[in-house]
Amino acid sequence: MSKISVDLALTNQVRRDQVELLYRQSPTAILGSLFAGSVLGYLHWLWWPEVSRTLIVSWLVAGVSCTMLRFATLAAFRRACATGDFDPALWVRVYAGTLAISASVWGCGAVAVVSSTDLLSQVVTVMFAVGLAGSAIPTYTAHRQITWLGMGLALSPMSLWLLFQPQPLQKVVGLACLIFLVTASLGARRLSAALVDAFRLTHELERANRLAEAAAMTDVLTGLSNRRAFLDHAEQMLRYAVRHHRPMCAVMMDIDWFKRVNDTYGHRVGDDVLTQVAEVLRTRVRGSDICGRIGGEEFAMLLPDASVQDACRLADEVRSHVEQLNFAVPDGRSFRITASFGVSVLRPWMGEDIGILLHSADEALYQAKAGGRNRVDVALPASP
Ligand code: GH3
Ligand code: MG
Ligand code: MG
Repeated sequence: MSKISVDLALTNQVRRDQVELLYRQSPTAILGSLFAGSVLGYLHWLWWPEVSRTLIVSWLVAGVSCTMLRFATLAAFRRACATGDFDPALWVRVYAGTLAISASVWGCGAVAVVSSTDLLSQVVTVMFAVGLAGSAIPTYTAHRQITWLGMGLALSPMSLWLLFQPQPLQKVVGLACLIFLVTASLGARRLSAALVDAFRLTHELERANRLAEAAAMTDVLTGLSNRRAFLDHAEQMLRYAVRHHRPMCAVMMDIDWFKRVNDTYGHRVGDDVLTQVAEVLRTRVRGSDICGRIGGEEFAMLLPDASVQDACRLADEVRSHVEQLNFAVPDGRSFRITASFGVSVLRPWMGEDIGILLHSADEALYQAKAGGRNRVDVALPASP
């Protein structure tokens, strides 16, 4: 994966985290606004008869409608999330749209229901608006612009209204609200940046961890599983086979006279031989089999649900393909190689010890070497 595509994938993941957190934080904020708006409406209904009842009721009806709209959006987002494939940019726009409607209803509605003659009504309403704006910081921090949108629409209508009132006290409170809006927005910006950095760092660490794990399990030269990974995986497969009484075979393979290849053509050519042999193995084994490079020029395969005939057939196929490989050397010469194989079958007395099954295949491999190489031998079905 190129650096650009890794960066793109990371940015996309961070955007998804931001949107998910936004929606996750929403329910309390939506219900909180409804509760505070209802209390404010109720207080005005009780104490300030000069405020139009129709206005209060209309405001609350609009507030409840916004609440329902936002919950409906939340439910739609959860459904999109469940499919695992959602467009973060689209859902941010949806969020911004519904928030703009809802914050305008609460923010502008507060100006509509406030008593223009009673200072106490104005103090209570301004507290409501400041509370709404303040709660936008912890709720929408995941997204800087959304935080600004929520705060601005909740508080600026009341602040501007106060600023244009006749009394100096009203003007001062209006100005103080605007100053609060600016300073809180700057603070929210820093918080959002820190949160986005934390999201990015988490994904970078996860990725580094995944790469390190994969590198620790893979043979660098051939790309096959290394000894440790092969044994780990093989142990699990053996345990399953023993517990479910399934047949299983192990095949050990060793390239013949490989030292001569290195001595005659050099280590680089030797490495090329190992890579091509590994490719033969990779293309011959079934999806359910595992194979790995467990030593210098030694490879192992574990074949679940394979009879001894299946295992010998596969080993002989690999042997024949290896034999047909033709290695061209830069000076014009070319050479071929062969490999020997040992096959062992899982017996009840072996238990769940992968070492015994592989040791048995190793003994068969030794026989194949002693018997002239370039052949497949099967371990005798002896008990220990
Ligand atoms: P035999 O038929 O008995 O297996 O003989 P052999 O020469 O294949 O066996 P031996 O154990 O004598 O030699 C194995 C050689 O494999 C020795 C070592 O230099 C070479 N080897 C081990 N790992 C690597 C590697 O990663 N790259 C290369 N090029 N050679 C390697
Ligand atoms: Mg060897
Ligand atoms: Mg060898």
